[in-house]
Amino acid sequence: MPSLAPRPDLDSLPKYVPGRTIQGAIKLASNEVPGGPLPSVRAAITDAMADVNRYPDAGSLALRQRLAADLDVTVDQVAIGCGSVALCQQLVQAVCGPGDEAMYAWRSFEAYPIVVQVAHAESVKVPLTSGHGLDLDAMLAAITDRTKLVFVCNPNNPTGTVLTRDEIARFIDAVPSHVLVVLDEAYKEFVTDADVPDGIEFTRTHDNVAVLRTFSKAYGLAGLRVGYAVASPAIAEALRQVCVTFSVNAIAQVAAMASLDAADELLERCREIVVERERVRTALLEMGYEIPPTQANFVWFPLGERTVAFAEHMLDRKLIVRPFAGDGARVTIGTPEENDQFLAAAREYLA
Ligand SMILES: *Cc1c(COP(=O)(O)O)cnc(C)c1O
Repeated sequence: MPSLAPRPDLDSLPKYVPGRTIQGAIKLASNEVPGGPLPSVRAAITDAMADVNRYPDAGSLALRQRLAADLDVTVDQVAIGCGSVALCQQLVQAVCGPGDEAMYAWRSFEAYPIVVQVAHAESVKVPLTSGHGLDLDAMLAAITDRTKLVFVCNPNNPTGTVLTRDEIARFIDAVPSHVLVVLDEAYKEFVTDADVPDGIEFTRTHDNVAVLRTFSKAYGLAGLRVGYAVASPAIAEALRQVCVTFSVNAIAQVAAMASLDAADELLERCREIVVERERVRTALLEMGYEIPPTQANFVWFPLGERTVAFAEHMLDRKLIVRPFAGDGARVTIGTPEENDQFLAAAREYLA
């Protein structure tokens, strides 16, 4: 008799480790922005509450229309997801059959190995360069006939490094057209380097490029779960087909549109975080830490075997960072006061 059991391969599924939340501690572990919703966004959320007995628009049409207009693409090129992490999974489901390969740099976003395995595809992980950035030449060399998708995280989570327009253009031109290049731009709004492209440029010339963005980081809606993809009409349609119906809830759709209305104010908050990012990195470099240049709202400590001890040192001082054991720790930029406390603890760690 066959017995009921989950897929045996789930035993080996990596766990997504969310940043910890501890009462009274400062959370610098999840790349959230420190500011809560603006009054206008709060009001839109409150208004939307009145209609929650109704199902949301399964197609998120109003939000898609709004994004298409803002980004100068067509509505059929936009797909909305329950966070862009859901869109990562949908992309693999939409293009990979069992045994097909999905490639990404490692270390990169920790959801990639999970979504690839859940979709019955195979992960191909390509090590970062010695400078903690993506090694596009090595990634190109690793493409096979079975490769269907490549995640390119720019800026890279958790290292903060970026690829330039020329580097990405050369990569996309060299990638075979049967491979979908996914530019994951979750931290785009924190980028100040003019050589870093807006990935949507590439969707205008290449049907095998998709761009992922999220309202969770710069737009401050991590708790509501909404992100979007811009791709060719065929890929965007496939994303909508594999989406769990109604998974993008009504309040999230409304809050995302209210956040786009308030973009100026929200992006101004990002500029303040960028100023803090540069201040924090400079201070850490002066202390003697190795911190790669970062274009995101976090800094990366490539501490290797010292990573866990560093995170414990921080936790003892009520500071929650995000350790990746044996590799490094990622620390989100918070308010100036939070950053000061972190810097003081980082100085103590060296003492
Ligand atoms: C945070 C993050 C996402 C997605 O966040 P959602 O909250 O699911 O929208 C996607 N990619 C990267 C690299 C991230 O760091």
